[in-house]
Amino acid sequence: MKALGPIPAGYGGIDGILAVGGRPVTHWAEEAGATPLFLYDADLIRRRVTQLRSAIPDRVALHYAVKANPFPPLLALMAGLVDGFDIASGGELEIVRDAGLPLREVSFAGPGKRDAELEAAIRSGVTLNLESEGEAARAFAIGDRLGIVPRLAIRVNPDFDLKGSGMKMGGGAKPFGVDAERVPALVREVVASGAEWRGFHIFAGSQALDAEAIAETQGQALELAARLAEESKTVLPHCNLGGGLGIPYFPGDTPLDLPLLGERLAARLEGLPDVLRGAQFCIELGRYLVGEAGVYIARIVDRKISHGEVFLVTDGGLHHQLAASGNFGTVVRRNYPSAIATRFGAEVEEEASIVGCLCTPLDKLADKGGFPRADVGDLIAVFCAGAYGASASPASFLGQGPAKEMLV
Ligand SMILES: *Cc1c(COP(=O)(O)O)cnc(C)c1O
Repeated sequence: MKALGPIPAGYGGIDGILAVGGRPVTHWAEEAGATPLFLYDADLIRRRVTQLRSAIPDRVALHYAVKANPFPPLLALMAGLVDGFDIASGGELEIVRDAGLPLREVSFAGPGKRDAELEAAIRSGVTLNLESEGEAARAFAIGDRLGIVPRLAIRVNPDFDLKGSGMKMGGGAKPFGVDAERVPALVREVVASGAEWRGFHIFAGSQALDAEAIAETQGQALELAARLAEESKTVLPHCNLGGGLGIPYFPGDTPLDLPLLGERLAARLEGLPDVLRGAQFCIELGRYLVGEAGVYIARIVDRKISHGEVFLVTDGGLHHQLAASGNFGTVVRRNYPSAIATRFGAEVEEEASIVGCLCTPLDKLADKGGFPRADVGDLIAVFCAGAYGASASPASFLGQGPAKEMLV
């Protein structure tokens, strides 16, 4: 039997059925009229934001990285909870505009922004996090042509990375940001262009569970920001310190020590050098805010035995939950937290694999896990499905189409 990842805190059962948003998942499946579906628990998201706010210093604003989950009702909920949004494409700009979010609190990072995307961003007054000198030149020209002063920050490719990070985004040669040593020259160009100078964006990695490592990276980001501001001879209006806060997905993972991270950050902010005293700071988080609040529900359509192994074949799969199948940036496949939702809390009776309905051996949601005996008609749950689930999976693969999503 292979271990399953830890089920996030805050979930329980009602009459033996997993509950989300205070109701059994069978209720939501009936209301949706179909499976598979994603359920996002609004209350868990609110609680997470409250925990964060009480741990991190007031001076640090909280931004939501839209790419983690752009479901419009969820964005509307986030609008009342966070201070700003980070987007990574023209498509996400349309989503935040349609959601009626305040565009002056939106920043746009990401390599390969096309001219049409730069133009849409400049017209809407979002801050562009410039990824290169070439992108800067195009933004200046578009601003001139439109007669609009662009709001420009520089994304710095830091000379360090986030230790223990699931996805390294800084350190060495990268397609993201401008190498630190070339930043001062670009700052001078931005200021000379007459653009509104918005400061730095320093993002060093994602999905780290070690608070000390994140704190260390934040400290390095602050030092780098101070050094670059001094070398550029400008005041820094704003500095985005990145994110990196992870959630436990796999067996043995433990939750981040948030109070410790908050303490470390507060201490760093106490001792700021003069060039950073007036700066506003923010952190940008995706999965930490919404990941654990999401559950993916699918229905068992077949129960099969092959060479003595049990396969629970569901109507879901990697086309909705690519990451749980181990095919989204993981080297070794490990099990996400999962359960038989309609026998929640029941004793383990057998070893079984939960698979999807796609005709590929990659389509596995749980490999040889221990579960209560489940049959056709039962619902299964994959946890940690609130971030990089629906939006980061190939929903059209094999003509399957997207799963329903509900904020409950
Ligand atoms: C993806 C991304 C984030 C969010 O990362 P999470 O791991 O979901 O918190 C934040 N900032 C940038 C620049 C990103 O690319």
